[in-house]
Amino acid sequence: MPYEGGGVMSQIAPLTPPPLRGTSPRYAQGGTAPIRRLRSSQPLIIQVDMTPDFDAVIVGAGFAGMYMLHRLRGKGFSARVLEAGKGVGGTWYWNRYPGARCDVESVQYSYQFSRELEQEWEWSERYATQPELLRYANHVCDRFDLRRDIRFETRVAKATFDETNECWIVETDKGERLTARFVITAMGCLSSPNTPKIPGLADFEGPTYHTGNWPHEGVDFTGKTVGVIGTGSSAIQSIPIMARQARHLTVFQRTANYTVPAHNQPLDPAYVRDVKAHYPEMRRRAKTKPAGIDFVINPASAIETPEEERRRRYEERWTYGGLGFMASFSDLLLNDDSNKTAADFVRAKIHEVVKDPKLAEVLTPRNIIGCKRLCVDSGYWETFNRPNVTLVDIRDEPIERITAHGLRAKGEDYTFDCLVLATGFDAMTGALLKVDIRGREGVALRERWNEGPKTYLGMTVVGFPNLFMITGPGSPSVLTNMLPSIELHVDWIADCLVALRERGVKVIEPVEKAQEEWVGQVGDFANITLRSTCSSWYVGANIPGKPRVFMPYIGGLPAYLERCEAVVQGGYEGFALK
Ligand code: FAD
Ligand code: NAP
Repeated sequence: MPYEGGGVMSQIAPLTPPPLRGTSPRYAQGGTAPIRRLRSSQPLIIQVDMTPDFDAVIVGAGFAGMYMLHRLRGKGFSARVLEAGKGVGGTWYWNRYPGARCDVESVQYSYQFSRELEQEWEWSERYATQPELLRYANHVCDRFDLRRDIRFETRVAKATFDETNECWIVETDKGERLTARFVITAMGCLSSPNTPKIPGLADFEGPTYHTGNWPHEGVDFTGKTVGVIGTGSSAIQSIPIMARQARHLTVFQRTANYTVPAHNQPLDPAYVRDVKAHYPEMRRRAKTKPAGIDFVINPASAIETPEEERRRRYEERWTYGGLGFMASFSDLLLNDDSNKTAADFVRAKIHEVVKDPKLAEVLTPRNIIGCKRLCVDSGYWETFNRPNVTLVDIRDEPIERITAHGLRAKGEDYTFDCLVLATGFDAMTGALLKVDIRGREGVALRERWNEGPKTYLGMTVVGFPNLFMITGPGSPSVLTNMLPSIELHVDWIADCLVALRERGVKVIEPVEKAQEEWVGQVGDFANITLRSTCSSWYVGANIPGKPRVFMPYIGGLPAYLERCEAVVQGGYEGFALK
């Protein structure tokens, strides 16, 4: 069956029912549903059997929020998107640091719901830059006429489930209240920047930039001295470029990181033509891979492969570049000894590139490769051969304090004009828990998740009826190519809403037993792999006080897809429908 946008999910519940009660007739004709504006200083008005303002409020206008809006409109629902930023694009709106680009190849890191969109959009590079990705997001927004239903510069502060009227009351930072039958969060897994509480941060007299909230006008480091804290993906992408601009760059490294070369390049038009001719097959193949990326996984075990052959395989993947390196063998994240062979290969590469052996040693990671998110770079190790770059190892002693003109670490003062925090995000739960989300009996999601997130399928939570999370904790999300994972969730949620409308169901909520079973599965899978063994943001280790729980579902996209389908086929198994 050709892919027509609904994905696997819509093949299970393909429905074109009449508009839902409460759907604005104006909206159904292409108009815009009205917003009920109530000042938040007013008491909550509880109307019995009231009709909510919208069928759904969607929070966030990144790739997830935009597609959710498009899908709901297509099914005749009224929806309003609330977005904190001034524009669409989410990740690609906020992360404007030099060198920001995707590390899943552009032709795969793209929507697949519209054949026309796939054909008309031209990716220019193997890994698109942030400006190109932002142009793409804006193109999608305009092409599908989404902007008129997005309210920008509006941050959702609170969402409360009104049990009397069985709808959500959503309150914004502008003091507005909206009501909706459903709330769908599309707030992103990596959208709540982490600013570490290093003493003295406010004392720094120069500009401080966070990679996750970069100035829109850009930053010119020419002639400046710059200090960078962090060596994760954002740092690894930006350091080579900042080093070329700055008079001097000092990198503060707490944990040395693994990175593989991107070998980024302009895309050959003949290759693009070929991809366009075969998009459906490529997307179908990708759906059969654990990470939702169409690359070949070598089924062999690394440790059982003779050394010479093993080395040849690694070299081949290294030369090709990108995240496919971890698919050199099938057991790299399952077997310590196998993992060590890959880690040793990369360690040797660092020593080949970095001329000063002592410096190379400090840059050499000692942990499990792929345990923290693997990085993909363009000239990262080479940058440390530059005379204007200094590496400071702060593994054993944390930064003492930020000072007026730099920072103090290991008893030494370092001075610089600008400070860059490449310190990542409060991942997966950060953005969600910044909002005061209250379910049945006024219970806060923050309270429910005080020992770590618990969800059913990574999309729903017991006690929070009619709340859906796109790529929530407990779903494959960040362990996959995010675009197909987003589309999978959006299609599932849209089809679910249609099914509820057809059956006259007003309230959907997972049952405790189903949630417990799912949380158990997520934990069991996590324990099988080496990925849960290090202090990564996957387990919340980068945020002091955050419960240590491996948050994403690591059973792979195909198994997850199968489960989501089975839930639908079982009549929304694991959910109570009212
Ligand atoms: P986001 O793009 O994060 O959008 C969420 C939106 O919600 C934001 O615009 C935010 O302003 C808004 N929001 C949040 N809270 C509120 C609130 N309370 N009220 C109103 N609005 C709110 N994934 C990949 O698969 N491949 C890659 O190559 C890749 N590269 C990445 C590079 C960087 C630098 C980062 C940070 C992430 C990358 N990711 C990548 C992950 C990336 O986040 C996803 O691919 C994808 O863009 C997420 O889309 P989203 O719509 O779910 O969330
Ligand atoms: P990150 O991977 O969490 O890296 C943050 C870095 O800051 C780490 O090196 C961390 O050290 C360091 N750090 C944090 N707090 C510190 C402190 N108090 N003192 C010293 N060092 C500190 O964040 P990120 O680089 O922004 O990447 C987050 C995720 O976004 C990635 O894993 C990836 O999924 C996505 N991303 C993708 C791309 C891409 O290539 N397409 C680019 C950017 C981001 P420790 O390791 O010791 O904690």
